[in-house]
Amino acid sequence: MATTTKHFVAGEWRAGEGSTMTDLNPTTGKPLAEFPIGTKEEIDSAVTAARDAFDGGWRDATPTVRRRLLLKLAQLVADNAQELGRIATEDMGMPWAFTMGEAIFTAEYVEYYAGWADKLQGETIPLSAPNTLDYTIHEPRGVVAAIVPWNAPLSLALWRAAPALAAGNAMVIKPSELAPLPVLRLMDLIAEAGFPPGVVNCVTGTGPDTGAALVDHPGVNVVAFTGSTLTGRRVAENAGRRLIPVSLELGGKSANIVFADADLDAAAAQAAVGCFINTGQQCIAGSRLLVEQSVHDDFLERVSANARTFTVGHPMQPTTQMGPLISERQLERVLGFIEGARADANVAVGGERLGGDLAGGYFVPPTIVSGVRNDMRIAREEIFGPVLSVIPFRDEAEAIAIANDTDYGLAGGVWTNDLSRAHRVARAIQAGTVWVNAWLAVNAQAPFGGYKSSGIGREGGREALDVYLQTKNVYVQLR
Ligand code: NDP
Repeated sequence: MATTTKHFVAGEWRAGEGSTMTDLNPTTGKPLAEFPIGTKEEIDSAVTAARDAFDGGWRDATPTVRRRLLLKLAQLVADNAQELGRIATEDMGMPWAFTMGEAIFTAEYVEYYAGWADKLQGETIPLSAPNTLDYTIHEPRGVVAAIVPWNAPLSLALWRAAPALAAGNAMVIKPSELAPLPVLRLMDLIAEAGFPPGVVNCVTGTGPDTGAALVDHPGVNVVAFTGSTLTGRRVAENAGRRLIPVSLELGGKSANIVFADADLDAAAAQAAVGCFINTGQQCIAGSRLLVEQSVHDDFLERVSANARTFTVGHPMQPTTQMGPLISERQLERVLGFIEGARADANVAVGGERLGGDLAGGYFVPPTIVSGVRNDMRIAREEIFGPVLSVIPFRDEAEAIAIANDTDYGLAGGVWTNDLSRAHRVARAIQAGTVWVNAWLAVNAQAPFGGYKSSGIGREGGREALDVYLQTKNVYVQLR
């Protein structure tokens, strides 16, 4: 019998009062744990705990206190990277080598925001009115609701928590029903770091029940959501009714553009990694590969050769590069996209569910579909699986037109040795992040977020703090 987890509210573990759900290991399809589905009352007590903590002292905690707590948390995340990685690997299937790396990377992210805690100064504004002093103060908003997905649960929870806490807010986190365990383990570290009870709370449950109840709670002042565009739109509508700010990190269908003059070996290696890492379950997957016609066949060969070298297998094995998809539903969805494309395009690599030792899990190998047109379903919708669509182009103008012909705008890439073209194309791509001769690089110091239907707001850098702060202007009449 799998153990039943608890909610983390007001600094203590509380058993759920409602029904429970089973959390499955996607590698084996077997149960890992039961977790409670947070009820409206449990959401209410978590939001109340956050409010009490905020009003009861956290809003007035000095920047030094916040900085030190975040630094301590960063250290604990780094020190526990092996264990956090193992929990995440079991819960969502990303290879252990990568989930450990993710924990280390995330610790640095938390450290970076610790550094912001004592640098959130306002400014003095010279008015035209005589005998006045005018200045601004940035104040925390209050209680942040963070809705976190399953594809990188630890880092995506901390990407929200670190800037929200640095800015002085309290929060309630709702992890995904598909991978709640890494976020629950994080709560132990939050307590160990010394955050006052109630500053960070975690309630597990389903999206439509627990997640929606959290977003709708009148005590919530900001919603930070990471997940699909469909759900993000719904969350923003609900937040909009209450006129509270939202930060949305949503899906993508990013174009990776390879020109004939590029370093084709480097581009092919990154095109494969950029699409297949985490089994394609990443918002920044380079899922549309645009290749200049003159090198198309040669490049397809190179990227196919890279794809074939990927070691797919048990994610706890140190040599594994690609684990399973998150769920049976996701497996069927991914296979459905591949089947749907067979009539009009060519499945050059992969495309079938893996059996043998891996038959119990949801394994699909790296899959490359060539001869794709940008109007096909496979090129338009976010698949969230290891499926790379290869689309040829004639010239720069056509490449830019195809890249931008999408509802999404999360990321884009350009591979070329022509300096002017690199910058021209980087400017022309309608996306929040553009990589030149690279893919996947996301850093704490730089802003990350979406254009168009890929989101609102930014994570990373100074801009990530904006949604968690409000600006007060103080006008003083001097006598
Ligand atoms: P969702 O957008 O449904 O889930 C993301 C988060 O939102 C989860 O914590 C989920 O909880 C929660 N949620 C779901 N419904 C609501 C709601 N009505 N109110 C508040 N919170 C809610 O993504 P899925 O997990 O269903 O994945 C579907 C697709 O979304 C993927 O195939 C992919 O295309 C995309 N996706 C994109 C991500 C990204 O980083 N851009 C991340 C995850 C998914 P719960 O899981 O418990 O339902």
